[in-house]
Amino acid sequence: MRKFTYLIPKTFDEAVSLHESYGEKAKYIAGGTDVLVKIKEGKMRPNYLISLKHLLDQERPLLNHETGELSIGAFTTHRSIETSSTVRLNYPILHDAVSNIGSVQIRNVATIGGNLVNAVPSADGAIPLITLDAKAHIYGTKGKRTAELRRFFLGPGQCDLDRGEILTKLVMPPLAPRTGGAYVKHGRRSAMELPMLGAGVLLSLEEDMLTCAKARICLGVAAPTPLRCIQAEKYLVGKAIDESSLVEAGKIAAEESKVRDSIRGVAWYRREMVGVLVEEVPTVRMLIVLTARPEFVPPWPPRTSTRPAMVMSPLATSSSGRVPTPRITPPSCRSIVLKTCRPSSSRVEARGSVSPSS
Ligand SMILES: Cc1cc2nc3c(=O)[nH]c(=O)nc-3n(C[C@H](O)[C@H](O)[C@H](O)COP(=O)(O)OP(=O)(O)OC[C@H]3O[C@@H](n4cnc5c(N)ncnc54)[C@H](O)[C@@H]3O)c2cc1C
Repeated sequence: MRKFTYLIPKTFDEAVSLHESYGEKAKYIAGGTDVLVKIKEGKMRPNYLISLKHLLDQERPLLNHETGELSIGAFTTHRSIETSSTVRLNYPILHDAVSNIGSVQIRNVATIGGNLVNAVPSADGAIPLITLDAKAHIYGTKGKRTAELRRFFLGPGQCDLDRGEILTKLVMPPLAPRTGGAYVKHGRRSAMELPMLGAGVLLSLEEDMLTCAKARICLGVAAPTPLRCIQAEKYLVGKAIDESSLVEAGKIAAEESKVRDSIRGVAWYRREMVGVLVEEVPTVRMLIVLTARPEFVPPWPPRTSTRPAMVMSPLATSSSGRVPTPRITPPSCRSIVLKTCRPSSSRVEARGSVSPSS
């Protein structure tokens, strides 16, 4: 591995001025799970690595009980977020996403800030934070500024940070009452795998516990950057959340997606799955959330979903000797019944909590 000098600044100012003095030769490092891999592969050649981990000013997600805001330091590890009871109970959509990143070993060192600044379309952390309307807090030579996270991603590997700027914190506004959501990572394996598609859906209901008051739908790997499905969200607001409205929202989201073929999956399969996931995600979680209330009578019967079947072939090695190609059945073969949407009673207990104010 190429040699570099590892610098440990004690303050944000020191980090920023080190970055300014070394310019192109310097790179920030937090957990290093992306940076070190890129250095090893020769895709990045910094002479100086400026550590941000020692600037830690907040190690766990903090819920401000007066304002209802949740703040998460950018240097917080995925594992700290995953094991936070505040997140698990009140923000299950975020818990879903971070607890499926890499492995425990990766989550113990990898940070949420690194995941966002790395800005790959498959970043699991970005999707739930966008549905939660997170604001990014940024520090640089010109001082502090904030940016809406939904506008933070500019393209694959590109984000809205000027040279030397540091992402310091993510702040989420209070959740509306009666809010529930979930994130589903769809891929070929359940661990150590970047998603073929990620879908996060967050819905807030009116007092009647049926009509959608607010919707947030965000997809990963469905476009060059995380994609808010604005039309599908608009469609849902004011509608009763039932099977037909969710199916329609799924169709609209699939139309909004800009999926393409890649090593992890082909475009038509991804587009098909956008519809299925957007339809399924709220069904699963809203049932979990709503059935935790004794007065709730489900407005729709438990349903069996039919996902398009993905036939796994033994990983075929291509002629180049490198690229494993999954063999996928055509859309007409919607044959495999994967799961029902009725949660078990134990999951209802474990996941029944919604927004603190509900
Ligand atoms: C085996 C393995 C499995 C993985 N699985 C997944 C997965 O399932 N899902 C997923 O989304 N990712 C996955 N990843 C990718 C990676 O772990 C995450 O993106 C991780 O969150 C990056 O965080 P980090 O602290 O390690 O970032 P680093 O590698 O330290 O930094 C990443 C980039 O961000 C910059 N940076 C870091 N923090 C800041 C900051 N606060 N301000 C400004 N710039 C900053 C660095 O300069 C660098 O360019 C995996 C990686 C590995 C090696």
